[in-house]
Amino acid sequence: MSPGRRVDVAGMAGILCSLMGATVLVGWVTGSDILRTFTPRGIMMLPNTAVAFVVGGGALWVLRQKEVRPRLLQAARIAAGFVLLLGMLTFVERLTGWSFGIDMLLFPDAVRMQPYRPFGRMATNSTVALSLAGAALLLIDVETRNRWRPSQLMAAAGLAIASLALLGHLYGARPLYAIDRAAGMAVPTALAFFTLHVGILFARPEQGGVALLLAPDAGGMLARRLLPATILAPIVFGWVWIVGRQREMFSREGGVAVFVVLVVAVLMALVLRSAYLVRIADRAREALLEREASARYGAERATRRALDAAADAERARVEAEAASRAKSDFVATMSHELRTPLNAIIGYSTLLADGIPEPATEGQRAQLARVNASARHLLELIDEVLTLSRLDAGRETVSIREVGVADVLDQTAVMVEPMTRGRKLRLEVLRPSPTLSIATDAGKLRQILLNLLTNAMKFTDEGTVVLSAGEDGNGSVVFQVKDTGIGIAPEHHSRIFESFWQVQQSTTRRVGGAGLGLNVAQQLARVLGGDVTVESALGKGSTFTVRLPRATKTSLRAN
Ligand code: ADP
Repeated sequence: MSPGRRVDVAGMAGILCSLMGATVLVGWVTGSDILRTFTPRGIMMLPNTAVAFVVGGGALWVLRQKEVRPRLLQAARIAAGFVLLLGMLTFVERLTGWSFGIDMLLFPDAVRMQPYRPFGRMATNSTVALSLAGAALLLIDVETRNRWRPSQLMAAAGLAIASLALLGHLYGARPLYAIDRAAGMAVPTALAFFTLHVGILFARPEQGGVALLLAPDAGGMLARRLLPATILAPIVFGWVWIVGRQREMFSREGGVAVFVVLVVAVLMALVLRSAYLVRIADRAREALLEREASARYGAERATRRALDAAADAERARVEAEAASRAKSDFVATMSHELRTPLNAIIGYSTLLADGIPEPATEGQRAQLARVNASARHLLELIDEVLTLSRLDAGRETVSIREVGVADVLDQTAVMVEPMTRGRKLRLEVLRPSPTLSIATDAGKLRQILLNLLTNAMKFTDEGTVVLSAGEDGNGSVVFQVKDTGIGIAPEHHSRIFESFWQVQQSTTRRVGGAGLGLNVAQQLARVLGGDVTVESALGKGSTFTVRLPRATKTSLRAN
């Protein structure tokens, strides 16, 4: 009887009880003996009792439900009250000998033909069992402060009375079912009481003592397994003893001895069985505990391993970070140190070329110009490496201010203008409206455009390089450097932004470079909250687009 599919004992008992009462009433209407006695030559259930069972069974059927429509609940309570009242009144009649005139209300003529006295009056034990049933139904949801349920106690008492009567009938022991001189509890009455009281006990299966019996735990299981045998075995043995005695199959002492031995044997079997059940439950629990413990141990070990791994990873990350910082520091320091002598070389070579302290020959000037150009190139390279190392270390700081976009274009164009000299190359600047401004790090923006423009000039032999800027609809300023140069194959579009990566071609070797310009430009654009993209077709020229927000958030930093 698992809680999931619990049988509706109370509901079935209610219906059965009403049916028994109704059957007996049919017996009274038709005059059929067996319908009123259930056993040959037995005592009859009286009409009043039969009506009480029909009504009481109905009340139980309704009250076993927890949620009932108020009107139906009212009706069921009235029915229970009726059962209680009938039981009590008849009990008083029996006790005092008075008559309230209720005994002969139904089938008076037929009742008068029966040997029960006073006519139509329920037996005393029946009145008690009936009163108990009525009261138990009325108090079905009452619970005392120390969790007693009067309803279940009364039902248990009623059950005891009914069981005694049934046993009395089974054993032929009259005092068990009849305490009055000319009346007794009939077999159908005892059966109906038994059913009704069992039903009341099971009407609230999760409450009180019944809950213990139905509980899904070991106690409930043990109770359910042991109870039927404990009840049935002595009853059966008693009956066998009585029948055996009546047929004189054994002496009184011999009979008792056999009875005792049998009861002891059954009880022993039950005790051993319960010990066995407890042991199985114990083992199952132990196994479960063991499994749980090992699972917990396993989980703990896994957690520890994961924690160790995480700690290792963290340590490695910290070490790597420290190494990378050390490298960046080294590069930054070295670059800085290299700049000083280079500036001296550039400065002195310029002075020498300008004839200070003494005039230089044409040949010397030409060579000094080469020294100067190489030194400048080296300086640019060092600047880029310096920027890269700062970006790498996350130390590139951003200083935002509002600048005119057209101004930035002009300032950058001026710096690359000399590269067009003596070549069939034209630099064109398409200025936006003079009012267009951008809040960004102007130095970095100039550096980005400069890198793109230098590339455009390097990789375009003749034609035009166009520098332009404008607004797009999404609050960004878009700068473009467009050339008519050698172009870049599609498969190289993503790689050209990697540091130290160059397209392997004769132009690259001719024009020089270290493969850092685009990487620096892109990283700087990202620091400013934007990006650099490329569109290019081999032989047709390239367009590099820088998209920057009109207002760079000051919180933006490198990395
Ligand atoms: P570099 O110092 O070599 O110019 P960059 O990072 O600036 O380094 O450029 C990487 C490579 O991308 C260049 O070597 C060149 O092959 C290609 N590239 C860059 N800009 C252009 C361009 N405007 N036209 C054609 N190729 C370009």
